[in-house]
Amino acid sequence: MRIIRLQLSSFRNLGELLWEPDGQFNIISGDNAQGKTNLIESVYLLATLKSFRTQRNRELVAWGESQATAATIVERREVVRRYSIQIDKESGGRRVAEVDGKRIKRLTEYFGGFNVLLFTPDELVVSKGEPSKRRRYLDRAVFNQSPGYLETLRAYEEALLNRNALLRELQQRGSANASVRAMLEAFDEPVARLASRVIVRRLHYLADIAADFQEAHAAITDSGQSVELRYRCSLLRKEIVVGEETFETNEDAVMECARERLEESLEMDMARGFSGVGPHTDDLLSLMDGRGLRRYGSQGQHRTLLLALKLAEMVHLERKLDFVPILLLDDVSSELDQGRGRRFLERVEQAGGQVFVTTTDPALVKPDGRYARWEIENGSVRRLKSGGKS
Ligand code: ATP
Ligand code: MG
Repeated sequence: MRIIRLQLSSFRNLGELLWEPDGQFNIISGDNAQGKTNLIESVYLLATLKSFRTQRNRELVAWGESQATAATIVERREVVRRYSIQIDKESGGRRVAEVDGKRIKRLTEYFGGFNVLLFTPDELVVSKGEPSKRRRYLDRAVFNQSPGYLETLRAYEEALLNRNALLRELQQRGSANASVRAMLEAFDEPVARLASRVIVRRLHYLADIAADFQEAHAAITDSGQSVELRYRCSLLRKEIVVGEETFETNEDAVMECARERLEESLEMDMARGFSGVGPHTDDLLSLMDGRGLRRYGSQGQHRTLLLALKLAEMVHLERKLDFVPILLLDDVSSELDQGRGRRFLERVEQAGGQVFVTTTDPALVKPDGRYARWEIENGSVRRLKSGGKS
């Protein structure tokens, strides 16, 4: 899939922008603070309805303006669609989204047609930060390939909230009689069912990308360094080695375990006033040569891990949905050594999708094939002489 045209108005520092990028490889260079990340952000916003930098949409509106719009024409498997978003500063950043000129009412109407994969230096928190960052990452990846997963996830969160509300009440009361316990058991049922569905979906996804991930990682590092992903599952009480073990992907079996575990942890949950086990506490671990990356990994190793995950996701989406998602790479090359950076870009090129790479130093990004070069200065994009073989 590819962006045919991007049109922005008062989006951050980008002023009035009408841009028709190349269908394949776009290198956007510019000094610091010229608008490279803003440009990537606008595309990401159009695809996901969210910024990756802020929760407050009003910040996206250019200073001194009251409204920002971002619109794009996107082609996917020969279907052309128009997406647009308008953000109103006055109303606290309210957002109106349209697909093909029709205002959408439910988020699910918007998703599914416009897929991007993002990599920014900030993404390193996925590898280095709290487990919640990795859960978010994993959930987004599952959602990218099957938008319906969002509903499962939301339903689980809601079931969990209900259970937690009751637990908190019991905690305050300090005791639970038989009828309250019976009520709690009724709350456990949906939690167990939805929890097992979430876990199984995540495990399926990881199993699907396991081989591609290994391959991508080996290709980028060009070394025999072994890397392993593990899903730490609190309900199943184990770390599941991705790609190795026969996965517990039978939902009923997982649900059986989930039920038992919820029952076991009831006393404890009542004492603490919330549910202490479930997919909302799980983690995705990575080990390099047997050692936990989160603790021992170097900056470059974290980066490589994430790029390998993205490459695997890209290949997987292509295989599953038959198109290559748009790749947004903000400032990737700056912290990879030249070999890793080059090998990563080679893989990206092989996939043949549309790519947007930003950099302060164009010498760092030299694809083998055809590419278009752009320069961004003070919010304006202009074309530079393109290069490469066509
Ligand atoms: P770097 O190489 O440092 O990452 P960049 O080219 O990615 O730089 P951006 O993050 O895109 O820079 O920001 C470009 C400029 O836009 C910055 O000077 C920033 O302060 C400015 N900016 C951010 N938000 C707004 C806004 N709402 N209105 C106007 N300008 C903004
Ligand atoms: Mg930037």
